[in-house]
Amino acid sequence: MRTSIRWRLVMMYVMLVVIVMMISGTMIVMMIRDNEINEVEDDIAAAITYIVDAVPEGADADTAKAALAEILGEQPSYYANKRLFVLDREYNVILPVAETGKGLRFPTFQATNALTEGTATEADTKQRIEGWDTEYIGLADGVKVGDDVAYIVYVLGDVSQINDTIYETIWIILMSLMVALVVASLLGFVFSEFLTKPIAALSDKARDMAAGRLDKPIKVFSSDEIGQLTMNFNKMARSLNETLNEITSEKNKLEIVFEHMTDGILVFDRMGVMIHANPASIKMLNLSRQISFQEVFKPYLDLSYSEMKQHVMEETISHMVAVDGKYYSIYFAKFVDQGKEAAGLICVIQDITEHKRLEEMQKEFVANVSHELRTPLTTIKSYAETLMDGCVEDPETAVRFLKVINHEGDRMTALVQDLLELSKLDNSQVNFSMQDINLVRVVEDSVEKHRIHAVKKKQSMIFHTPDFDCKISGDSNRIEQVLKNIITNAVKYSPEEAIIEIELLEKGKYYAVAVTDNGFGIPEEDVQRIFERFYRVDKARSREMGGTGLGLAIAKEIMEQHGGKITVESVFGKGTRFELVFPKL
Ligand code: ADP
Repeated sequence: MRTSIRWRLVMMYVMLVVIVMMISGTMIVMMIRDNEINEVEDDIAAAITYIVDAVPEGADADTAKAALAEILGEQPSYYANKRLFVLDREYNVILPVAETGKGLRFPTFQATNALTEGTATEADTKQRIEGWDTEYIGLADGVKVGDDVAYIVYVLGDVSQINDTIYETIWIILMSLMVALVVASLLGFVFSEFLTKPIAALSDKARDMAAGRLDKPIKVFSSDEIGQLTMNFNKMARSLNETLNEITSEKNKLEIVFEHMTDGILVFDRMGVMIHANPASIKMLNLSRQISFQEVFKPYLDLSYSEMKQHVMEETISHMVAVDGKYYSIYFAKFVDQGKEAAGLICVIQDITEHKRLEEMQKEFVANVSHELRTPLTTIKSYAETLMDGCVEDPETAVRFLKVINHEGDRMTALVQDLLELSKLDNSQVNFSMQDINLVRVVEDSVEKHRIHAVKKKQSMIFHTPDFDCKISGDSNRIEQVLKNIITNAVKYSPEEAIIEIELLEKGKYYAVAVTDNGFGIPEEDVQRIFERFYRVDKARSREMGGTGLGLAIAKEIMEQHGGKITVESVFGKGTRFELVFPKL
């Protein structure tokens, strides 16, 4: 493009020069030719006048002829380069005598004119005469004898030198044309640079802009139209750069949000081809590559892409799907392009598995609470009815029944107390009075308090007193509550004569209280679930032992409040080991 404009300009220069030179050259040549011809004509006319004037006034035909013969015999300088003829009325050459005029075209207009009018007014057209190798133009004049023209003086002037002059002039003009062409080409080449340089710079800048490089402005060389164009171009590039920066920054922000969102985002174009999928969505729906709407949602939805688009035109659609044991809520909404036309669909995928689980747990919890309360209530009611039906008369049975009623009442109280406790822990309503305490003392006290239960079952409870202090920050009452649950569980879920060992360990930044028994143990599949509310491995045994199924759940909450944790290892039929881990002070 750059070369093209440059060459076009050079060509224009050259063409202009050629046209000007050709017009002026032609005019010069014509002027020179006319000038030269006029000179020759004047010369001829002078020669004719000289000859005609030689004929005396009133001479007869013979005298006139003799006078003409005499004057023609003279050789004045203006006869040079001329041919002189005297013709009679029949256009026969009578003088010079040797001349026949062979090859000459007679009569010519001028000759005829001279015969009738007596004067020659116009030059003859040049003619090539046979045997002569030059070109002539001729003029004629009549020689009158009496009132009639008796003879015609016809003079031809040599014009070959005019052609030479003209050829020479043309040659000079051609030479100067050549020089002018070279100079015009060079100047055109140089001058076009002034025009093409800013255009080339603009073109380069436009290419840079297309490649996204908008920061460097173009130098403004002049204040003319091209300068204005360059300035406006710079202005445009600057504002484009600013807009582009804003868009890029917005896009980057959005991309980072997309990348790190826990919700999945899928974007489909007008045709249903996936154009964007963030990592969360790829993970959630196990997507392996860029696929279509149909392929992604075929297993979960009964709608085609166009049907879905139709639906979302009116409102946002939501669906719940289950994938690999997880639950996702998917929202479909349309997005529009600049012309407010629906450009495609956006799907937002939310993982609601936890929400679902909590919902299930809540339902299960309510069912469990109702069940746990209903069992003792049924027992109480049936025993009370039996008493009312007359059993009260039998004091021994009545006391036994009342003991059962009391026992069930105690169970219900314990259950309600545990529920309240959990609820308070859940709602952070329990105030922990955290103090710097020696864990050894707290564990030792708890062991001693509950040793009696082990003794009752002929079990050995061994406390390995550590030879170091375990300073932690904690609420000793709450820690005792946890220890009570763990130690009584060890007693409850171990047979008679079992061994229960309690020890304190130092584990890096933590102290751990380990309670190990060689009791019944917990089946592998239940181990991790025993911290769930109401989860009991053997419900009957637990109830028989007065358990509520909430002890470990409470213990777990309390340990978490202390920044610690509770862990369990168990081998079914061999024994269980609980560890309460506290961070060191
Ligand atoms: P519970 O009131 O039933 O004892 P917990 O929450 O204290 O409730 O314990 C939950 C379940 O964990 C118990 O029902 C029991 O099956 C199991 N468990 C707890 N401690 C032990 C242990 N030391 N040995 C065997 N099983 C245990």
